[in-house]
Amino acid sequence: MPAAVLCAICHKRKPKRYCLGVRADICAICCGTEREVTVDCPFDCIYLRESRRYDRKRTQPPAGMPFPEVELGDRFVEEHEALIGRIGYELVRYTVENPKIIDKDIEAAFAGLVRTYQTLSSGIYYESAPDEASAVGVFRAIKSFLDDIEKKAREQGLVAGMKESDIIGSLVFLARIAAVHDNGRPRSRAFIDFLRQTFPGAGVKKEEPRLIIPGA
Ligand SMILES: [Zn+2]
Repeated sequence: MPAAVLCAICHKRKPKRYCLGVRADICAICCGTEREVTVDCPFDCIYLRESRRYDRKRTQPPAGMPFPEVELGDRFVEEHEALIGRIGYELVRYTVENPKIIDKDIEAAFAGLVRTYQTLSSGIYYESAPDEASAVGVFRAIKSFLDDIEKKAREQGLVAGMKESDIIGSLVFLARIAAVHDNGRPRSRAFIDFLRQTFPGAGVKKEEPRLIIPGA
């Protein structure tokens, strides 16, 4: 089969690089404009890796931080490192099993979880699950993970249970980290990428090798 003559995305320019997301040759301009916009870029793409480094230098901190009304004390992160880490680790595990998950799903799940625990701390149990099905999956996974930690703690008779304010604070902290890392593209996985690097042991397996089927 002859090599593609035109970029597989714009069908106008000459292709310059092989895209692991669309599995075809594309031009450099489409790579830049469609990356995590219409293309689900695999974590190991060298062009994506390069863009992450560039984005980190350039990205302005978001104007509004999530849940500005929630104040985290100077020592909050230090004192809740274990819980924050366990949630982060669980998120990586979940996203490895559910590779379609994007940063926006996690951010929506965080927002729903914070609202759920906020109502819970006022004595009402009301679940504020997000609207998107993919975000609901993350919401449920983290909620049942937290329920489990709580259950185990109670069974061991260690504590009366976790304080809602500790859970809320940990989730708000993670939501703010997510807001900083999200590159603003609709299919951004820059925050997930950051989590994978922070918790490399969390069931991260190499993405399935992409087979190039001759003649396909
Ligand atoms: Zn193109």
